[in-house]
Amino acid sequence: MESGAAPEGIGRRTFLAASLSGITTLALASCTWSEPNPSPPPTTVPPATTPPAPTNGVPLPTAMSRSSWGDDAFSRGAFSFDAVGSTPDLRRALAEPVGDRLIIAGEATDPERPGTLAGARESGLRAAADVTRLGTSGERVAVIGAGLAGLTAARELVDAGFEVLVIEARDRLGGRIQSVDASGFDTSIEMGAVFTGDDAAVVDALRDASVDTVPFVAEVSATTNAGLSVPIPPTGPDAVAIAQQWAAGRPADVSLATALADSGATPLSAVPDESGVSPADWLAHTINSGVAPSTGAVTSAVSAERYDPDRLGGLGELVTGRLADYVDALAEPLEIAVSSVVTRIAYDDARVSLRLDSGESLNVDRAVVTVPLGVLKTDTVEFSPALPLMHQRAISVLGMGVVDTVWLRFDEAFWRADVAGEPDDPDDTADAAPPSPANVLTVVGAPTPVALWIDAGLTSGEPLLLGLIAAARATRLEALDDEEFQAEVLDSLAPFATATG
Ligand SMILES: Cc1cc2nc3c(=O)[nH]c(=O)nc-3n(C[C@H](O)[C@H](O)[C@H](O)COP(=O)(O)OP(=O)(O)OC[C@H]3O[C@@H](n4cnc5c(N)ncnc54)[C@H](O)[C@@H]3O)c2cc1C
Repeated sequence: MESGAAPEGIGRRTFLAASLSGITTLALASCTWSEPNPSPPPTTVPPATTPPAPTNGVPLPTAMSRSSWGDDAFSRGAFSFDAVGSTPDLRRALAEPVGDRLIIAGEATDPERPGTLAGARESGLRAAADVTRLGTSGERVAVIGAGLAGLTAARELVDAGFEVLVIEARDRLGGRIQSVDASGFDTSIEMGAVFTGDDAAVVDALRDASVDTVPFVAEVSATTNAGLSVPIPPTGPDAVAIAQQWAAGRPADVSLATALADSGATPLSAVPDESGVSPADWLAHTINSGVAPSTGAVTSAVSAERYDPDRLGGLGELVTGRLADYVDALAEPLEIAVSSVVTRIAYDDARVSLRLDSGESLNVDRAVVTVPLGVLKTDTVEFSPALPLMHQRAISVLGMGVVDTVWLRFDEAFWRADVAGEPDDPDDTADAAPPSPANVLTVVGAPTPVALWIDAGLTSGEPLLLGLIAAARATRLEALDDEEFQAEVLDSLAPFATATG
């Protein structure tokens, strides 16, 4: 049901102030903000009371928390990636104002750093600049989505004198920034973004918001399924480079899988060396622990031309505090309606009308839409009229990858080389091996469901692991219950429980 004389829509309503995370949030007093289709919260599994027998020497964790971004109705994936045919111009096309009234933002619209905090922030700044250019100070603007893009845009617009209401589907802020105080963990953990990236503006903003981070230079180790620690040869990256070089000379973009197959980069020998690992295993290692977690996609979907093998190189610092503090700092002066799902966006030359899942409508002068690409790919938000063809094309061609996080806490860090005696054990100084510098643990050989493990407690000494599960494996594991899921991820750790060499 549309509400009447439009532009006063928001102003005439009485807002009921409520408090969430110390910021002011709003719910329209005249309607009930229902919460259909809630996004699944991360599941935290307390220590098992009747633990299944530990397998393969892996002890049971004392706590586990897992995400499910692919399943999440308000993200439908983890971040955008360059699927076959993607170009930065497609992202720019998605960001083009629609009829001067509607502006799409969010990480997927950033041509430089899609899929990152920096890209999301930049897209929010760009959207706010577009609204400021097209509109007049004092206009009413709705910002749909209270993730980093939406909150950044809203802050800029408020500062520029616009009347801004942020509308957020979930009952929390931050979107794919999700800091959780999960039971069994001593510190807050991040279920979404966890690295700062190297964008100076984001790093400064995190420092201003007192978000603790620690330096993180990826030191990747590889362990065979049999537990043998082996040096990583350039075999896999070399094959990908040959494939990408070949693809660059093609008239049209092809998938990385096609490029690997047709360039002559593969097949690689499947004959194992003395450590039991073959060249083909090393290529699979590059794909499983490099391509998959950096795109969230399988090689048959990833653009050979656009794939960036160095993406995991620019991680920046590891967040050890709460990224949500950054979100809360941004949100602090804003008016935000939470648990409010936008289901329809109608626009013409004069205004934008939004329909919410409650059936209520509100009318504004302009709207900034920051719902994730994964949501735009579904029909959960109806646009009337339909978005222009170039926007539709961008939404269809750009990819949305699936990456999940799993946090595990143990009694002791059995995967570290010096665990037999923790660093401050005086008896251990004489013959202890030097601590392993590896902070990224991978397995080579038969692939495990977890793409890579980050030793998130290496600096602090905490026995804390962050696993990344990517692409088809993430989708498969999301369907498992917690017990089945835990069994699979613990199995993935088996090589480190028996590690030698
Ligand atoms: C597992 C994972 C790991 C990551 N790791 C990193 C990392 O280490 N470093 C890094 O830089 N980036 C990382 N990212 C990416 C980063 O988190 C995102 O790029 C960024 O947070 C996206 O911000 P956004 O505002 O564009 O989207 P979002 O944060 O998704 O915000 C969109 C908002 O829209 C809301 N919404 C959706 N539908 C509706 C609707 N119908 N009505 C109203 N509201 C709606 C959502 O609830 C959400 O709050 C990671 C992401 C994931 C998932």
